[in-house]
Amino acid sequence: MGKNKKAIKKIKNLLKRWDGLCVICGEPFVSLESVTKEHIIPASLGGLDSSCNIAASHYNCNKLRGSRSLLLVAKVIEKKKEKMGKSFLSWVNKGVPNRFAN
Ligand SMILES: [Zn+2]
Repeated sequence: MGKNKKAIKKIKNLLKRWDGLCVICGEPFVSLESVTKEHIIPASLGGLDSSCNIAASHYNCNKLRGSRSLLLVAKVIEKKKEKMGKSFLSWVNKGVPNRFAN
């Protein structure tokens, strides 16, 4: 199995575990391109790189989150959703180069 295939399988498994939804904004993923590995407890706060601490998020949600806790980022996301309206979904699902594999 190639490296890329492995990464895709990893993404699919992660999405299955999280019902195909982003742990930050709660919206679905429209492509695998925008899926980023999200540490529930950030590594900077001592979060582990193990499956129980890893969820899926959109790349753009991940960027908005920064090092905030998930509870703190909820308000930021709500504001962004309100401001962008319908375009929010396409914004968070914008594809980026595969940043999943590491
Ligand atoms: Zn999201």
